[in-house]
Amino acid sequence: KEELNIIQGALELRSKTVEDVLTPLNDCFMLASDAILDFYTMSDVMQSGYTRIPVFENERSNIVDILFVKDLAFVDPDDCTPLKTITQFYKHPLHCVFNDTKLDAMLEQFKKGKSHLAIVQRVNNEGDGDPFYEVMGIITLEDVIEEIIKSE
Ligand code: ATP
Ligand code: ATP
Repeated sequence: KEELNIIQGALELRSKTVEDVLTPLNDCFMLASDAILDFYTMSDVMQSGYTRIPVFENERSNIVDILFVKDLAFVDPDDCTPLKTITQFYKHPLHCVFNDTKLDAMLEQFKKGKSHLAIVQRVNNEGDGDPFYEVMGIITLEDVIEEIIKSE
């Protein structure tokens, strides 16, 4: 029954973590912070179909900004505007969470906060060096809702 699945999904929010449902970093559509908003790049963004685009500096694991597609409304591709001009103008806050955050807590954060996308980090203490934060991927409100309404 559909209703039972939804209740089941809602109950599972307490046990599942963001790590279970995130979109892995390798699958994320992102832009490099030094990108130029020419016709080519803007077409890529439009074709990706995503509304929120993480922006990384030097390496993909180093996310420094989020671009919203609506930020591009006044950008003319002929001007070849640096992406930095746009991200520095809007300065959308980054929302980070740890990999072991439960989905019910994540849902609360999404409901309270303004952002519907969070960057998922974990503490990497493998190896000899000091532990460091490692970005695993991104999670959106949609990923949490999906867990509730998915039908078997
Ligand atoms: P919206 O529906 O608000 O327009 P969207 O379609 O860009 O946003 P979501 O609906 O929030 O994205 O998420 C749909 C799926 O796409 C989720 O699994 C999410 O993790 C994933 N996703 C969101 N943004 C990106 C991105 N930039 N690159 C890769 N996957 C993404
Ligand atoms: P996003 O968050 O993906 O950027 P959005 O902010 O435009 O999208 P939603 O988050 O989907 O819109 O919806 C927020 C609320 O605004 C909902 O109650 C929705 O019904 C309402 N809404 C969305 N578009 C319009 C519109 N064009 N006019 C009036 N209300 C709208």
